[in-house]
Amino acid sequence: MARWNPFAKSDKAKSAPHQAGSPNTGSVSGAADTPSDDSGLKKKGLFGGIKQALKKTVRVLNTDIRDLVKEDGRLVDDAFLDELFAHLIKTDMGNGPAGKIRDSIAKKYRARVVKMTELIDTAKETISGIMQQESAEILMASAGPTVIMVVGVNGAGKTTSIAKLVNMFKKQGKSVVLGAGDTFRAAAVEQLTVWAQRMGAEIVTGRQGSDPASVAYKAVDTAVKTGADVCIVDTAGRLQTQANLMEELGRIRRVMEKVSADAPHEVLLVLDSTAGQNAISQARGFSDTAGCTGIVLAKLDGSAKGGVAIPIREEFGLPVKFVGLGETPEDFAKFDVGSYVDALFDVSDE
Ligand code: GDP
Ligand code: MG
Repeated sequence: MARWNPFAKSDKAKSAPHQAGSPNTGSVSGAADTPSDDSGLKKKGLFGGIKQALKKTVRVLNTDIRDLVKEDGRLVDDAFLDELFAHLIKTDMGNGPAGKIRDSIAKKYRARVVKMTELIDTAKETISGIMQQESAEILMASAGPTVIMVVGVNGAGKTTSIAKLVNMFKKQGKSVVLGAGDTFRAAAVEQLTVWAQRMGAEIVTGRQGSDPASVAYKAVDTAVKTGADVCIVDTAGRLQTQANLMEELGRIRRVMEKVSADAPHEVLLVLDSTAGQNAISQARGFSDTAGCTGIVLAKLDGSAKGGVAIPIREEFGLPVKFVGLGETPEDFAKFDVGSYVDALFDVSDE
């Protein structure tokens, strides 16, 4: 018998996605039809931002690969292939992707001399293939407020990423209602309240220890009644047990569905990229059950393990939607595979 999944969308929501468009569900934002608006995101080219953020990761790779290949190229034999693999996995890209690059190089160049540019081109091609994903756009509601639930372990960067999302939506002229669903820690509510005040978003809070599902309910309800464009609900990253946490996230999700049939439209999983491969085990816990729809890769700026976006894409099949590039609300960029891969393998002189 199939295991009961507290996060699975109800059949009703699946089979009748248009119910949300009924006249009683509040104002229609029309956001789904508006072309993508990148205001509020790191400009200077996404590439500039990501390149800067990946500096630590690239520095390691850069030096290693230069030493390995040398000016005139290098004969591709087993020793070379082993060394290449060892350097690649230092970025936390994981054995799978590093192995694929090694195998592609072996297939194309074994017993021949490979040049630096050829090696880089092959690496980029291989990783682009692994990472291809559908759009990084937020899934907007076709009518009524777009409801976004944000999940992840404590300290991953959830609340900060919410501030960044608010900043982005505000710059797009959208109104936002926040739900301070991490009622487990008083500081978490305060932190979100400060951001809400700074950025002019409405916020629904509850007392410390109060039921986060009721906060989530009120937040979505407020968004519907006031005709807000977006409702973002923060959640706890740790409770007494992991089972408690998963059960709570399930309840939050179900009350959202009650207010608005196709909500939540997005369940964003925030991962700490400085955790490298550990971010993957964090992700496993949530995505197995949480019905995540996308990933926010926070703290890419401080990470020497920036290659971790690769196994995350490979393993979870979830699109990486945004990257966190610092602590301010502006330090946020839409994820783009091409820019990421170019930045990661940018081993040119600085
Ligand atoms: P939460 O517990 O998941 O809500 O995590 P917070 O949003 O409170 O973030 C934890 C810490 O990480 C805070 O000190 C943030 O300022 C910091 N942080 C979050 N995102 C980023 C990021 O993209 N870059 C950097 N450098 N720091 C970040
Ligand atoms: Mg928080």
